[in-house]
Amino acid sequence: MTDARLRLLRSRIRDVPDFPKEGILFKDITPLLADVKAFRACIELMAERLDGESVTAIVGIESRGFMFGAALADKLGVGFVPVRKLGKLPAATYRAEYDLEYGRDAVEIHQDALGPGDRVVVVDDLIATGGTAKATDELVQQCGAEVAAFVFVMNLVGLEGTAKLAPRRVITILDYE
Ligand code: AMP
Repeated sequence: MTDARLRLLRSRIRDVPDFPKEGILFKDITPLLADVKAFRACIELMAERLDGESVTAIVGIESRGFMFGAALADKLGVGFVPVRKLGKLPAATYRAEYDLEYGRDAVEIHQDALGPGDRVVVVDDLIATGGTAKATDELVQQCGAEVAAFVFVMNLVGLEGTAKLAPRRVITILDYE
């Protein structure tokens, strides 16, 4: 039953106060990853919520988006494309910048990872301000591909990150007020 799965997932996310710096309540997914029932339930819920969406690839955002994204790609029977922090991908890349609390950061995708005709689902563990996800949307577009939907395990609702992704479809499994 869906509710039982959601309760299980919620119970496997650990709040760590003041990490990586004071004032941040870090949502730690390592207990979820360590529990195969919870991890499978999470991937199952993602696939169910995407039902009917035709996609050609999953794009995972470094680094926790890789874990959920790769498992979801396997379940849906499509390939996996990594979006990485600046300077990590070896071949020719496209780059998109986004705002941090202080300054800016950037993410990259391999130029040949996607092309016109690709319709992808972007996966990450958590959406906060939505800056990283929005930059990833720009990368997919630079490849000439399109984003069918975003999927996040967790949504920090108060930061209104999902609004930044409009008009794209956004699926969140667990909302935190
Ligand atoms: P944002 O670009 O603001 O939406 O931030 C999203 C990215 O930062 C994701 O890759 C998250 O893994 C990470 N992140 C932001 N806030 C938290 C948090 N409170 N707990 C865990 N991860 C976070």
